[in-house]
Amino acid sequence: MDLQYWLGRAVEAVDEWRDGFGPFTSHPVNHVDDERFGVAFADFTRRLQDNYPFFHPRYVGQMVKPPHPVAVVGYLAAMLVNPNNHAREGGPATTDMEREVIAQLAGMFGFPDHLGHLTTSGTMGNLEALFVARESHPGAGIAYSADSHFTHARMCRVLGVQGHSVPVDLQGRMDLDALETLLRTERIGTVVLTAGTTGTGAVDPIHEALALKERYGVRLHVDAAYGGFFTLLADHGLFDPRPWKAIASCDSVVVDPHKHGLQPYGCGAVLFPDPGVARHYLHDSPYTYFTASDLHLGEISLECSRSGAAAAALWLTLRMLPATPDGLGSVLLPGLQAARRWAVLLRTSRHLTLFQPPELDIVTYFPSEPSLTGIDAATARVLNEGMTSADPVYVSALRVDDRAFLGRHPRLMGDARSARILRSVLIKPESGNYLEPLHNRLEELAGGRSKPCPVPSSPSDRRPVPMPAL
Ligand SMILES: *Cc1c(COP(=O)(O)O)cnc(C)c1O
Repeated sequence: MDLQYWLGRAVEAVDEWRDGFGPFTSHPVNHVDDERFGVAFADFTRRLQDNYPFFHPRYVGQMVKPPHPVAVVGYLAAMLVNPNNHAREGGPATTDMEREVIAQLAGMFGFPDHLGHLTTSGTMGNLEALFVARESHPGAGIAYSADSHFTHARMCRVLGVQGHSVPVDLQGRMDLDALETLLRTERIGTVVLTAGTTGTGAVDPIHEALALKERYGVRLHVDAAYGGFFTLLADHGLFDPRPWKAIASCDSVVVDPHKHGLQPYGCGAVLFPDPGVARHYLHDSPYTYFTASDLHLGEISLECSRSGAAAAALWLTLRMLPATPDGLGSVLLPGLQAARRWAVLLRTSRHLTLFQPPELDIVTYFPSEPSLTGIDAATARVLNEGMTSADPVYVSALRVDDRAFLGRHPRLMGDARSARILRSVLIKPESGNYLEPLHNRLEELAGGRSKPCPVPSSPSDRRPVPMPAL
């Protein structure tokens, strides 16, 4: 599709709608001189060049890519109106669109009934799920795996709930025996399971945790902020479908359309199969909630103002690429397959070693050095030389503790408490066609000994990674 053409059509469509309300004079205080604006804009676009090329398959660093052009057009058109999905009077059209996309996401996870809404982020979605968890099990703690997103421990502090970190197995999945030991203490009300950890894409055994839900009466929350849309590919034989099917029997799930749902930032979602959880949110507002008898989205959400444009962009995207295996699933498939192929290449690589087999589309690997210190230094070197060379590649780093490292690779010398390894997120379908050049370039960087990097000795000596893990 021709983005410029459709952006123009979006502006026209909104102008046509505006014309229906009759003419008025815009206030001169908003007037901007084109010449002066031209100068500011030139400065602005120059400043914007200081960015990593998220759009290019050379970039496999973090979970970042530009939105789909359909989402861009949908977002722009709605943003020109600027609806606020807090209450129906803030934007009836986008409120309806939000309800429709939420129903589609609930269907994707197999929820027969649901309550849910879009959020600004996965962090906000998880906060809401943990808030509902606290309200339904007052006084009880929340358990999450050691490899879960940092937000869970943090939000437990925000909510004043005791958080408990549960060890992981050698594939980064929650150790359910350790969980059960904790559940026996009767101090836990909710267990957070991750469907696609941010670090390695590991998927907790959600299907096996269902039995513990029965046995100990705990709530199960699934953090599928990154991985959620992979549920569309559960029947492709590329990974174990059982954890994904089990999400339907859990109590809440979070998914981020701004990660694998092709959306610009500002689009997470939280879903509950039990509409009755609305009671935990109930509050009144002297300003809003006058235009409909159904619950307004703001009555079932902790955030107040929320972008109607985010709902519009997702709605238009799902019109073109619905939440089905052939729709959005087909966009996720090439990256998933590329991760499998890359794992094969890494197994026979001279200079790189696969850290663990990828479950989703995140690949973890490290320069083939004999010791953790050597691996850490070489990782820093590949990361930095990759970004600054004339033939750049952008990867990210993941810090792994010695126990997790030596458990997977027992022959390494464990001469440090932890080491950084390389991590690549194949979030773009284009990664599938770019794998060989990417792999070859990284081999070259890992094999080269041209610019040795000093071994970091203290946290302050560590070279910065390009971006913090999201
Ligand atoms: C990205 C991520 C989050 C946080 O979501 P944001 O949208 O970045 O706030 C939470 N959990 C997991 C597993 C994630 O990958």
